[in-house]
Amino acid sequence: MTMKVFNSLSKKEEPFAPAADGTVGLYTCGPTVYNFAHIGNFRAYVFEDILRRTLEFNGWKVRQVQNLTDVDDKTIRGANAAGVPLADYTRPYKDAFFADLKTLNVEPAEVYPAATDHIPEMIALVEKLVEKGFAYKAPDGSVYFSVRKFPGYGRLAHIDFDSQQTGARCAGDEYDKENAGDFALWKAWEPSDGPVGWDSPWGRGRPGWHIECSAMSMKYLGETFDMHTGGIDNLFPHHENEIAQAEAATGKPFVRTWMHCAHLKVNGEKMSKSLGNFFTLRDLLAKGWSGREIRYVLINAHYRSSLNFAFDSLEDARKSLRRIDEATAKATDGEKPEWALRHLDDFSAAVNDDLNIPKAFAALFELVRETNSKGGAGVLGVFKRMDEVLGVVFFGKAAEEDVPAEITALLEKRAEARKAKNWAESDALRDEIAKAGWTVKDSKDGQSVSRRI
Ligand code: AMP
Ligand code: ZN
Repeated sequence: MTMKVFNSLSKKEEPFAPAADGTVGLYTCGPTVYNFAHIGNFRAYVFEDILRRTLEFNGWKVRQVQNLTDVDDKTIRGANAAGVPLADYTRPYKDAFFADLKTLNVEPAEVYPAATDHIPEMIALVEKLVEKGFAYKAPDGSVYFSVRKFPGYGRLAHIDFDSQQTGARCAGDEYDKENAGDFALWKAWEPSDGPVGWDSPWGRGRPGWHIECSAMSMKYLGETFDMHTGGIDNLFPHHENEIAQAEAATGKPFVRTWMHCAHLKVNGEKMSKSLGNFFTLRDLLAKGWSGREIRYVLINAHYRSSLNFAFDSLEDARKSLRRIDEATAKATDGEKPEWALRHLDDFSAAVNDDLNIPKAFAALFELVRETNSKGGAGVLGVFKRMDEVLGVVFFGKAAEEDVPAEITALLEKRAEARKAKNWAESDALRDEIAKAGWTVKDSKDGQSVSRRI
């Protein structure tokens, strides 16, 4: 089956296949680790997970690189306000990011490069741009990319900048197309940077935000690679600048296919830190929603349509998942029946049609309906195959299956303590299990355990 995806560069749906040897090189812009990511950010990461899983569903290998922005205006401001070294400030947010990805059943990328570990690569790229005449040092010691020297600028955003290029410099990492101008590759040290800074050929300073993604993607995926993704707000200026930096330096095309997901909104506005209209994953878990239910909501809209976040959709997700669970409980291994394979074909056509997950869910629910009417003999394999992409049907089951023996032993001891109504002992054992990285849940049916995430 041919996979088709919407390429932001051509603004068209195009057939997709990796350029070489069955492996897809995929770069996904990662979090700025100055705070906990909100579920708007996770919409982007979960969309990228669906993309990755669909590529794997099609039989390709994926080499995914996702950066961690651990030096920028916001991380520096946070670290200096807290009076701690930058690395100490960002560490807990990096850890939280990985824990949250697990909670949402996101498959890990192959490489998670942090910006602060790649300063020499960034300096080398900036040097190349200066040598080739695409970048210049400003009077304050910062280095800027000269937008008017790069004729293709605006190609991704589909904006003709010729008449607008003023050559004015924008020091901030974020700007809109009305204020487009030369952007910072390297920022000279300022007193507000405090102890944060690196030596460079242009003096002490730090990288601009955009350069890290060009430098690190090319390091791990080569000068030209298959796919690059992010939220739609990354398209301009961040991705436009990545293209300019990379292509000006190498003279080669940077990325073949660009994909962007639409925003998660709240009451019609983008969910964002600055508007204060956000929920972190932790906020929702604390309200009693599970990672599985949240993942369901985030994936169950086409990635190019904006999605309005509402608690009703979590209620619906809970009900839908219950229906799926009831059906999979009846499903068994064995030869897959013809009628079930037809739903798998529909599912496969849907995911390969620019990741049409709502349509893929429709195929899954047809399978649920027919399992309920015809019985589940041989259907388990079809549910499993669909779940390779969705990651919600058997969510967390793998973690339950490999509970280590010492945890099982503690659980048994705790079950006895609870039978004897020895609540202090029961609590102490729960704490011991928690220290080992597992969370116990008590219900009418007894205890269940999951890896603490
Ligand atoms: P940031 O940490 O702001 O650089 O954002 C990390 C990722 O989340 C980027 O790919 C953004 O485009 C994406 N993002 C931020 N806010 C939203 C939102 N409300 N909906 C979808 N994606 C978002
Ligand atoms: Zn990026």
